Amino acid sequence: AAAPTASAESAAAMRVVEVDLGDRSYPIYIGQHLLNDGARLRQHIPGNRVLIVTNTTIEKLYLQKCTDALKAADPQLQVDSVVLPDGEEYKNMEVLGQVWDKALECRLDRGTTFLALGGGVIGDMTGFAAAAYQRGVHFVQVPTTVMSQVDSSVGGKTGVNHPLGKNMIGAFYQPRCVLIDTTTLDSLPRRELASGVSEIVKYGLIRDAELFEWLEGNMQRILERDPEAIAHAVERSCINKAEVVAADEKEGGVRATLNLGHTFGHAIETSTGYGTFLHGEAVSIGMVMAADMSVRLGWIDASILQRTRTLLQSAGLPVTPPESMSIAGFKELMAVDKKVQAGKLRLVLLKGPLGGCVVTGDFDPAKLDETLAAFCS
Ligand code: NAD
Ligand code: MG
Repeated sequence: AAAPTASAESAAAMRVVEVDLGDRSYPIYIGQHLLNDGARLRQHIPGNRVLIVTNTTIEKLYLQKCTDALKAADPQLQVDSVVLPDGEEYKNMEVLGQVWDKALECRLDRGTTFLALGGGVIGDMTGFAAAAYQRGVHFVQVPTTVMSQVDSSVGGKTGVNHPLGKNMIGAFYQPRCVLIDTTTLDSLPRRELASGVSEIVKYGLIRDAELFEWLEGNMQRILERDPEAIAHAVERSCINKAEVVAADEKEGGVRATLNLGHTFGHAIETSTGYGTFLHGEAVSIGMVMAADMSVRLGWIDASILQRTRTLLQSAGLPVTPPESMSIAGFKELMAVDKKVQAGKLRLVLLKGPLGGCVVTGDFDPAKLDETLAAFCS
């Protein structure tokens, strides 16, 4: 079982959440200006060589700072970097090859550490590159988006997209630490911020009613990037993710609950193409659809649906699919979901009081039809 440790309430204090995975356990450090703390990162870099993987946007903002901090902590450390193009459309095997090209050009050996500096795209790609380079080198995560700080940097899912499906090629590969500098969020576009907030709401809905209620009272503070509110939201999210991952690392059971709203959401992302909806935006719509279906099944009170919609809207997130999406379109795209087992569609649905959910294929399919009909014109 997980034993995440929460620390003090103030924004200034660093918080540490432990991901409990036996001999592959690792800490998540959460705090302001942690990027300056090269010594803390150095502690989790076993050898003398680091390859920082980042993209063209983050390079300009944080690459120098990260490099300087590591060099200041240990002048002997050899720090190289590779800068990938920015965008989900570059999350593929061809671009991933640039990481290995750079590593080989620099003659990096098996003792090297790959450091992901960026959002979820960079984190997923760097982790997969680390898992396969010389059959596995060390890996650390320095996530710089809300989405990556509350979700993708924790739990070890890494990979790239295939032309026939998102995240279809990858590996489970855990980092040695996750260093979250919450001040990096100050440069994040507002739309990207809100997209990450969608996953925080998700933790509230699936297992943390207290977090959901806290969000209802503090959404504006998050959107204004109040350091204390951000620290609390990131910490609570990491605790939730760490507990779920510790209980079910490879998604044989409870980890699937993290996909609330994602089956509907993936259908929206796939049908509209990369870039129309951000991942968290599609998940926002999907969570409202899942809640709607849960009400129709009689599994939750209608007030939970209403509160979910209101909360997501207060973050500026969309709550209805685009007009272009039809009932048939949803059905076809949802059928290829990774959660389909033996031809049966399984969904994460809400059940019981706020904070309860189930993963099940055992529902009245007419209720899914009703939900799709209610959301598609
Ligand atoms: P992203 O990595 O594309 O980052 C979003 C945008 O923000 C990019 O343009 C990026 O360059 C920019 N950016 C990043 N940090 C910034 C900063 N501090 N200031 C200014 N701009 C900044 O997107 P994301 O939302 O972070 O991650 C989405 C990806 O994560 C998807 O590919 C998704 O599949 C993956 N994901 C993985 C998991 C997992 O468990 N591994 C979970 C959720 C999402
Ligand atoms: Mg997600």
